[in-house]
Amino acid sequence: ERKAALAASSGPGVTADGHKVPLLANIGGPADVPAALEAGAEGVGLFRTEFLFLDDSKNAPSEEKQVTAYRQVLEAFPEGRVVVRVLDAGADKPLEFLTPADEPNPALGVRGLRTLLDHPEVLRTQLTALAKAAEGLPVHLEVMAPMVADRADAKAFADACREAGLHAKYGAMVEIPSAALRARSILREVEFLSLGTNDLAQYTFAADRQVGAVSRLQDPWQPALLDLVALSAEAARAEGKSCGVCGEAASDPLLACVLTGLGVTSLSMGAASIPYVRATLAKHTLAQCERAAAAARTADSADEARAAAQAVLSGE
Ligand code: PEP
Ligand code: MG
Repeated sequence: ERKAALAASSGPGVTADGHKVPLLANIGGPADVPAALEAGAEGVGLFRTEFLFLDDSKNAPSEEKQVTAYRQVLEAFPEGRVVVRVLDAGADKPLEFLTPADEPNPALGVRGLRTLLDHPEVLRTQLTALAKAAEGLPVHLEVMAPMVADRADAKAFADACREAGLHAKYGAMVEIPSAALRARSILREVEFLSLGTNDLAQYTFAADRQVGAVSRLQDPWQPALLDLVALSAEAARAEGKSCGVCGEAASDPLLACVLTGLGVTSLSMGAASIPYVRATLAKHTLAQCERAAAAARTADSADEARAAAQAVLSGE
């Protein structure tokens, strides 16, 4: 019965009182597009482009190869939004020819945007390929950088987008606490924010996302993480810009309601989670989501936050 109800669930993400929260898919390449379409994704909120770089450990993929892959994805969402993340190499995703081999703490080293600023030709090729792939398509292309730490990072990325002649919105991922704390300053340079809650949890709690022994601290219900989400969403609202979530947090239906209540404007997740999030969001009003969010933020632990939100959302 539950399965049938979920299968029947379709259409855009919206709360019971009609507040729209676009539900987007996280994809790792063209192979993930069919599942995203089947789940009724309204677009792509995180296109991880690392897969293109895995075939060759010595060189970046050619511009032509990239254009083909990007075009395949962009064509699948003709009127939709597709948010492409430029290469996030380093730390848990090392690339032999780009990632320094001698870093004592790779997660704190040269990764994400830092890698691309050290190798501007790799970033330039990627942005040029995206511009070519989007040519003539009505798709709403957005491009974002991983691991933005401050306004200077955001400016460097925005400059690179402009220099490549890219007609797309450009944004910054919020994965480092400094970016959440100074979100307004970052928004002077870019048009949107996207919270990468996996890394944001890692860096907020000094807890390696790959180490099971500290997984308690990776729980996205941690109130400190919710506070940073709220700061980012409030900054975006004040600037009249959008702030989505594309980390694992968005795929938990209850937490998706809380994130909505914190002011997040879109949710991106693995396609399999979309029907569940859509169904749960449709049961609650924005005001209920806001009350659940406020309750969760008064908690002192992830478990308490979850219970507090649950109590608000099931009691009304
Ligand atoms: C994140 O960090 O939350 C994120 C979406 O990026 P990735 O998981 O690819 O690091
Ligand atoms: Mg990340």
